[in-house]
Amino acid sequence: MLSQILSKIQQHHARLVAVSKTHPAEKILEIYRQGQRVFGENRPQEMQEKQSLLPADIQWHMIGHLQTNKVKYIAPYVAMIHSVDSLKLLQEIDRQAQKHNRVIDCLLQFHIATEESKFGLDEQEAVALLESAEYAALHHVRLCGVMGMATFTDDQQQVRREFRQLKSIFDRLKARFFAGDDHFREISMGMSGDWEMALEEGSTLVRIGSLIFGSR
Ligand SMILES: *Cc1c(COP(=O)(O)O)cnc(C)c1O
Repeated sequence: MLSQILSKIQQHHARLVAVSKTHPAEKILEIYRQGQRVFGENRPQEMQEKQSLLPADIQWHMIGHLQTNKVKYIAPYVAMIHSVDSLKLLQEIDRQAQKHNRVIDCLLQFHIATEESKFGLDEQEAVALLESAEYAALHHVRLCGVMGMATFTDDQQQVRREFRQLKSIFDRLKARFFAGDDHFREISMGMSGDWEMALEEGSTLVRIGSLIFGSR
């Protein structure tokens, strides 16, 4: 299964985030032994526990909603935070990264779904953040792109529209704020149910859990 998923992802020059939330360290190690190094978790304490048990060359990606008071648990090692949805959170990530002499890679999360429950910025809020003096003062975070979650629905056309919306937000932000910045290149979209469509629509990071690890 993993090798089939990987070959498709590589055809699109994208990368896999293997979403290991709720699964024990031994199962992560099985996937690690097949060569996978990027793993995604959605809870800081759970990531922290697993990070302490597992090989140091794993790149841990935080994909879930992150409260400012939890950033400290992951700041020493986290490779990328996909779920930045406020200036306040970005400032706290910067503060914690500075303590550890690091620069932490981050994605801005956008609200592209129709469901109220999902987190994220809208484009106007992102523009305000990127234009702010407070953002300009941060030196220990690096914005690398955007992330979004499509609506949980069987309507494939709706999901495709939402992926296209995220891609066009990325394109506009890239042109306006990051034109000369090669690091701003990631579009994190696609999960077990919609990852192939996400790749067709320009995803560079697909976050796949249950298809690899089984159901939670
Ligand atoms: C759990 C989760 C995933 C993976 O979901 P699957 O359907 O198991 O592939 C992807 N992204 C986020 C933000 C998640 O919380």
